[in-house]
Amino acid sequence: RASAPLLAVAGLNAWYGHSHILQGVSLEVRAGEIVTLIGRNGAGKTTTLKSIMGLVPRREGRVTFAGEEILGLPAHVRFHRGLAYVPEERRIVPGLTVEENLRLGILAARTRAREAARIEAIAETFPRLKQRLRQEAVTMSGGEQQMLAIARALMAEPRMVLLDEPSEGIMPILVEEMFAQFAAMKRAGTTILLVEQNVDLALDISDRVYVMDQGAIVHHDTAAALNADPVIQDRYCSV
Ligand code: ATP
Repeated sequence: RASAPLLAVAGLNAWYGHSHILQGVSLEVRAGEIVTLIGRNGAGKTTTLKSIMGLVPRREGRVTFAGEEILGLPAHVRFHRGLAYVPEERRIVPGLTVEENLRLGILAARTRAREAARIEAIAETFPRLKQRLRQEAVTMSGGEQQMLAIARALMAEPRMVLLDEPSEGIMPILVEEMFAQFAAMKRAGTTILLVEQNVDLALDISDRVYVMDQGAIVHHDTAAALNADPVIQDRYCSV
């Protein structure tokens, strides 16, 4: 079933208390794709990622991953099935070095036996981290810590990563490096669903894009088509 999507979200609704935040979100990500979700602040992008990961208390609809329904499963079970999530807040552990933080990414994973090999592979993908493996992680710059959060998620060799605004608050030069790394992750076979305000850079590395507004998907297209459509970009993507 090569053509079946790796992740399929259909009619997803989510609530915080009495606020009905997601109102029928549907999207698909095929294996090997980078798909980006864009939209204004408060459109519901973070809530979509959290709902896919099982981190929003009340949710309804269908979320299938690798052909299996996962909507009712707890987040850690989704993780064991190969779905990783890097939240906007990076959760780097103070007092631990870069390498020790990386090891945390594999503690619970089935790939534990390959820990050393994973650290080596990740050091090749993230040269900035390779130079800093013995440095206390929280002494790194914000951008470097964001790379560490992403690298830590990759330690368990997930099939798919959900990335929430990785470029937020990061120097432009590091942002470009980070986006080049997303392209490298894709070449290495990782599927990516990205939430990003940095639309230009995101479009450059993405296959397809979904545009969100007020808790619903209002538009979707290939990144190339959206790149050539300033009207949609102006209407839905200005912060
Ligand atoms: P941003 O780019 O600002 O993060 P977003 O598109 O990711 O925006 P969400 O964070 O998903 O948007 O927020 C969608 C709506 O849900 C907003 O109106 C927000 O205020 C609300 N919301 C988010 N988290 C909570 C929460 N824990 N409790 C109540 N309401 C929430």
